[in-house]
Amino acid sequence: MSKNTTQIRAAVVREKGGPFRIETLSLESPRRDEVLVKVVATGWCHTDMVARDKVYPVPHPIVFGHESAGIVESVGADVVNVAPGDSVVLTFLTCGRCKPCRLGRMAHCEKTFPLCFGGARLDGSTATVDGQGEKVHEHFFGQSSFATYALANERNVVKVRSDVPLERLGPLGCGIQTGAGAVMNALNVRPGTRFATFGAGAVGCSSIMAARAVGATTIVAIDIVPSRLEMAKELGATHAINSKQTNPVEAIRDITGGGVNYSLEAAGDPRAVHQAIEALGSLGTCGIVGAEPLGTEVSFDVTDLMLPGKAIRGILEGESVPDIFIPSSSNSTRRGASRSRNWSSFTASIKSIRLPKTVKMAARSSPSFA
Ligand SMILES: [Zn+2]
Ligand SMILES: [Zn+2]
Repeated sequence: MSKNTTQIRAAVVREKGGPFRIETLSLESPRRDEVLVKVVATGWCHTDMVARDKVYPVPHPIVFGHESAGIVESVGADVVNVAPGDSVVLTFLTCGRCKPCRLGRMAHCEKTFPLCFGGARLDGSTATVDGQGEKVHEHFFGQSSFATYALANERNVVKVRSDVPLERLGPLGCGIQTGAGAVMNALNVRPGTRFATFGAGAVGCSSIMAARAVGATTIVAIDIVPSRLEMAKELGATHAINSKQTNPVEAIRDITGGGVNYSLEAAGDPRAVHQAIEALGSLGTCGIVGAEPLGTEVSFDVTDLMLPGKAIRGILEGESVPDIFIPSSSNSTRRGASRSRNWSSFTASIKSIRLPKTVKMAARSSPSFA
């Protein structure tokens, strides 16, 4: 631990499924390639909750949070892309050296798991200790931003214009680029086509906005929460199906006369994966973005895949190149294409994320952690 440390307030999870407790920690100064960011706001994502519950093998105690925006406080000696005072969005961390990274497909970086879920730097070191001097894991997605300050790497810090509302931008770093990027980059949805998203949360709603933007003419939202389906229609869905009441596959076949060109599984539910494949028409592609427990398997009818030429593919982080996606999307936010609500405390925001009507939660760092 370096002698130069910053005292931070952070939400620490100490055991599987345990509470997010606000603690004071000491955070190291940036190493040569690192960036210390004063967090302005941080979004909640389903992945924070599944990691808390050890659906993925993440070490505890740990600070989660991986959708943040803030102001650069200080930088390491080798950092050239950002400087103190810059407005930035933090996104997922990649290695920059493996084949997917070199191909510009960094969302599928071969080091994704240790870099984003390892709770430490790749060399195994951590940057925070608690009041008793005990190690607290961090570097979650290379940031651990449920805190007043986050220590990121130059590779996962993206500079944005200083006149954009930072409190709305954090989710661009994960949830929004996952949904919008899946449509625009990975599935490459074409004008005049038919698209369906299974799940109309933050990722699904982002995919709907993107599908509308690229000119899809039939956009179907499937969810079990009526208020989410209403929002989906406001954002551009032409049809909304409550899969608790209606068989979504049959409904999609009726609406489209055979099936959609593209489907997205954004619910993290094996049944929805199955339905998203079934709902495809000839030559259709199903993209899977929902986080499932490790080892989850889904069955499908092989002939139903072969004869119509259907394809299934996994997609991470919308296959976005964050340095391109985030600055361009932040300009849309500047024009007012998002809604926000302030929360009096971090713990209040935790309660609200459990409400089914909540689509995306963002907590302001201050005064939440004060
Ligand atoms: Zn890589
Ligand atoms: Zn996320």
